[in-house]
Amino acid sequence: MRAIQMVDLKTEYQRLKKEIDAAVIDVFETTAFINGKPVQQFADALKNYLGVKHVIPCANGTDALQIAMMALNLQPGDEVITPSFTYIATTEVVALLRLKPVFVEVDKRTFNIDADSLRKAITPKTKAIVPVHLYGQSCDMETIMQIANEHNLFVIEDNAQSIGGDYYYKDGTTKKTGTIGTIGTTSFYPAKNLGAYGDAGAVFTNDDSLAQKLTMIANHGQSKRYYHDVVGCNSRLDTVQAAILNIRLKYLDANIEARRKAADFYDAAFKNHPIIKAPFRADYSKHVFHQYTIVLDSDKKGLRDELSAYLSEKKIPSMIYYPVPGHRQKMFDAFNGLQYDLPVTDWLTERVISLPMHPELDQQQLNYITQTVLDFLK
Ligand SMILES: *Cc1c(COP(=O)(O)O)cnc(C)c1O
Repeated sequence: MRAIQMVDLKTEYQRLKKEIDAAVIDVFETTAFINGKPVQQFADALKNYLGVKHVIPCANGTDALQIAMMALNLQPGDEVITPSFTYIATTEVVALLRLKPVFVEVDKRTFNIDADSLRKAITPKTKAIVPVHLYGQSCDMETIMQIANEHNLFVIEDNAQSIGGDYYYKDGTTKKTGTIGTIGTTSFYPAKNLGAYGDAGAVFTNDDSLAQKLTMIANHGQSKRYYHDVVGCNSRLDTVQAAILNIRLKYLDANIEARRKAADFYDAAFKNHPIIKAPFRADYSKHVFHQYTIVLDSDKKGLRDELSAYLSEKKIPSMIYYPVPGHRQKMFDAFNGLQYDLPVTDWLTERVISLPMHPELDQQQLNYITQTVLDFLK
């Protein structure tokens, strides 16, 4: 059996080596290191793939969130509602911009923003909601958009873990996750579903004037060189990364299908288990399984960490995304993080564990992983 990895980037590289090496060498030979042709080519290709009017590439997924929030003219102290159960980048950027992060509860099944908790958190100071499509499962966007419209709020979808995901409206129409809110953001961190070979990110929107503003902000606030109209930042997609992303985008759908197949295998093995709760697949979306995260539905203290140690002994990597929720991070002491009462978030952070998930997992590996997990919990 091949060694099991949490994420296997090497196998695909070996398969695509010729194509990727040629694209990278082409960038070196043209020396168009900054804003070379592949950057616009990738923005256009991603725009077509997502069915969105504008894609603005940038340096990483954290910058994408920052640029999105900067473009919305939010003022210091304005409240931005986010889940606490997310990667730190989502909430960190809110505080960085001197806005106030307001943490809300997540749904126990989807791990995503809970609509009731969201409604209760809205105050006259609320300006934006940042739903995070965690692990590849879309948020309930139709409900979130309805709440946002009722209260005139911006919606920034953090799509870093769900690029390629579909959202199905009740009327039968489909949209890609990240293209539903005011702005969508994503990360092309190597381990993401669509990863570069370094840092990269992008912002999407269907709003023409916002697109113009986002483009300016990512480029020192200028649209004409050396004329800086607004305060911006320097956040570019590297040409080498764009050349690699152009190739990897072509394989995104096939890779998502391979992830879903691995998820089906896990699901079948864990079906009706008294302790293992397999990831919930909401019928309003297509899960793209950035992670395969199970919940150990047990109150036995330390069970999750014991499983993790047992797997590691058996040469099976696993990860805890995320062991400490946002509202319990020291970073947010100034925002009274600990005053939040988020029992579902706390419950989940003590019980989630992510198993190896990538398009290269084979049946033998999946069999070994599932058997080992089941053996431990016997
Ligand atoms: C990865 C990630 C980010 C940040 O992306 P970087 O490219 O690492 O800056 C933001 N939000 C979520 C949910 C992520 O998973």
